[in-house]
Amino acid sequence: MRWIIGVLFLFVYGFIPFEDPAYPLDFFQAPVNQPLRLSGTFGELRPNHFHSGIDIKGAIGVSILAAGEGFIARIRVAPDGYGNHLYIEHPNGYTSVYAHLQEFSPEIEAYVREMQFRQETFEIELFPGKDQFPVRRGQVVGKMGSTGHSFGPHLHFEIRKTTTDRPVNPLLFGLKVQDQIPPRLHEIKMYEFDPQGRLLKSSILPLIFKNGTYRVQADSIKVAAKWVGIAVKAYDHMDGVSNWNGIYQLDLFRDGALCYGFKMESFGFDETRYINAHLDYQEQRSRGSYFHRCFTLPGNQLSIYQSPQNGLISLTPGKASTLQATVKDVAGNESNLEIRLFTEGQGPVIQAPRTPYQFFLPFDKPHVIDNYGLYLNFPANIFYEDLFMQYAQRKDFSPGILSLTHVLHNESFPVHKEYVLGIRPDPIPMQLRPKAFIAHRLKGGIVNYGGQWQDDGMLVTTVNTLGEFAVMLDTVPPRIEVDRFSTDMRRYASMSFRIRDNISASGNLPNLKYRASIDGQWVLMSYDEKNRRITHAFSREMASGSHALVLEVSDAMGNVSVFKRNFFR
Ligand SMILES: [Zn+2]
Repeated sequence: MRWIIGVLFLFVYGFIPFEDPAYPLDFFQAPVNQPLRLSGTFGELRPNHFHSGIDIKGAIGVSILAAGEGFIARIRVAPDGYGNHLYIEHPNGYTSVYAHLQEFSPEIEAYVREMQFRQETFEIELFPGKDQFPVRRGQVVGKMGSTGHSFGPHLHFEIRKTTTDRPVNPLLFGLKVQDQIPPRLHEIKMYEFDPQGRLLKSSILPLIFKNGTYRVQADSIKVAAKWVGIAVKAYDHMDGVSNWNGIYQLDLFRDGALCYGFKMESFGFDETRYINAHLDYQEQRSRGSYFHRCFTLPGNQLSIYQSPQNGLISLTPGKASTLQATVKDVAGNESNLEIRLFTEGQGPVIQAPRTPYQFFLPFDKPHVIDNYGLYLNFPANIFYEDLFMQYAQRKDFSPGILSLTHVLHNESFPVHKEYVLGIRPDPIPMQLRPKAFIAHRLKGGIVNYGGQWQDDGMLVTTVNTLGEFAVMLDTVPPRIEVDRFSTDMRRYASMSFRIRDNISASGNLPNLKYRASIDGQWVLMSYDEKNRRITHAFSREMASGSHALVLEVSDAMGNVSVFKRNFFR
């Protein structure tokens, strides 16, 4: 039976160019000179993205080694994201990436410093020539750190196909990791659908481990619907570390036939946001719980799936069905799940209860909604399934709110890409217009999505979420707080400040900007966004005596704070 499906699979998918699975096994070495201990695996489920590399545990300052010969093709310093990171291009068609570095090797560090001064910026991206920084396999290129969006020392290591920039699972290149522990399965979620594919009900069932297999407590699960799907919460574990890492592979069989499967071998950065279709988005948002959905939503175009079926199961009334799942890690350790499903009687023709809605938006069509006060332009395939959108307006008299609040369904319905959102506020004075922005109003606070004024008085931007939106005003400059600074700095090697804004900016707006000068000369200040800290290390050449510091910080709306002080050094 399995053989027949294999042939069918080849027939259906044979013409799709899969990446060559034969990865070179001897080219790369480990990027650290110690046994690999991982706190993160490739394809691991993260907010809005799949993890694109492996996270290698270690201490600040551990030497980071070139995984293979090649040359340094790209260097970036950023206050967020990957922090200090670099890319090595190899002659075998792959590029390796090393992120969150404490510092680069001295010759790279000197080059970065020179370019930072030349461009008068901390944040910088450089593309050295092919001959500028050639590296040997095992050559030290930097030190392990925790810069950027990192909350503990580790190396984020990636291997990408150079021509496509697609990351590939680094553990497929022969790197050795001690792992004899199979993945653990924790819970399943059962979904029951009506004949139109609309959700009737869902429930979470804990799993027990019995006779070598994960099962639910009861012998079989009785369901009311004919159509069902499941989601699995599973994690991998490795020798010598306590981390819960991502699994490599999951296959689901219905009565012995493969009906769903994925492998975390490679994906494109342009498809990583499909994670919100792959997992149960609502569970992730409401409980921080990551379930692999074992049936694909119609708008999910991820390339990791390996079954021609979509994982939805049609039950025959009065007949039991067996669902089996195998979950694997890269080392080949495997765990199994087995559930018996049973639907009663005739298989009901229940309809899902219909919540009132204002707009029906089929996922594969574009939609424009324009009601004078609000303009929405959704491109096709922005949703993973049809949306029965609920819409309401609210008048809110809180200060700083300049328009109706438009309630677009809710944040728990995932949105794959940007759509155009325009809101027409009440008339506001022309001089305040540059300080107005489209605000996403969340329980935890406000996010600034910016906006451009149209001639007809509408403020327009792009967003990638549903929820509550209104036009708001921001005239409050960012705050500058002293972290380490006094008028007498003679005993200090560095000075630092904390900078923060009253409103957080969405991903498509600039970070807080800052510029510092001493005695009128630009000085380098590093920026650690997660700690909101900017730091200047004093140069040894600085003359002793009195110096004038000017520090300027501006937010996305152009509100500026200035800190001016003299100090001794
Ligand atoms: Zn990572």
